[in-house]
Amino acid sequence: FLYLKALEIQGFKSFPDKTVLTFGEDITAIVGPNGSGKSNISDAIRWVMGEQSTRALRGGKMEDVIFGGTAKRKQTGYAEVSLVLDNTSHIFDMEESEVMVTRRYYRSGESEYYINRRSVRLKDVNELFMDTGLGREGYSIIGQGKIDEILSVKSADRREVFEEAAGISRYRHRKEEAERR
Ligand code: ATP
Ligand code: MG
Repeated sequence: FLYLKALEIQGFKSFPDKTVLTFGEDITAIVGPNGSGKSNISDAIRWVMGEQSTRALRGGKMEDVIFGGTAKRKQTGYAEVSLVLDNTSHIFDMEESEVMVTRRYYRSGESEYYINRRSVRLKDVNELFMDTGLGREGYSIIGQGKIDEILSVKSADRREVFEEAAGISRYRHRKEEAERR
């Protein structure tokens, strides 16, 4: 099966210093007080897997993922996240028993992506995760408030989630757009 082995965060959101989290094969829970950075960790996982939506990353612009500084520390110039995945069962189409995906983003707006330290394009990262059940479209990460949305009493909200999952929400949007004209 597929599992996350480690996550390395540096200069991402509330993590100015290099922070390494290692995960076992069992369940891992991350606990901490409000505002301590739990959601920032799941944002880092989403981000390194190629997330381009700043809304999904709970920010206004992409630069918001870079550590913005505090009273005591100046901001960092870039954000970098690496995700190490187990590949002993070759879920990813690669020979290596471990796959490391890295994303780096500079304040200048420059982006870099790496797979096992080889420089790649975003397209390659997307293709790596395609059909693995992971990645941007994989519904492998359920954000805060998402369960509430699914359980919402408003059937329209609930339907939206299923339409998104079924990949048909864009047809609804197109239809609505056409009807407005
Ligand atoms: P809760 O239990 O309330 O959900 P949490 O542990 O999930 O809290 P996060 O949302 O992960 O908390 O972290 C929020 C903190 O991260 C805030 O203090 C915010 O200022 C900080 N933060 C977010 N983006 C940045 C950034 N770019 N630079 C510095 N700090 C940031
Ligand atoms: Mg949170």
